[in-house]
Amino acid sequence: MLVNIVCPKCNTSGGFSITDAYYIGPYKCWKCRAVLKINMDNNRLVSCEAMSDEEAARFEQEQEMKRRSRGGR
Ligand SMILES: [Zn+2]
Repeated sequence: MLVNIVCPKCNTSGGFSITDAYYIGPYKCWKCRAVLKINMDNNRLVSCEAMSDEEAARFEQEQEMKRRSRGGR
């Protein structure tokens, strides 16, 4: 489904498509390129906050590690 996300930094709304009803992860604003941490719960946007570059990088690393450990066997 497509979720409408309003960037807290520039107030621009953008569409973000998710495949699961639950999602916690980064979303990049198409306009100001701020990385936001969005929290979707049961297809509803619960929270949306700015994420620092550091935090975003760490998040990606974690996702990568999860992917690797899962695909081991
Ligand atoms: Zn923005």
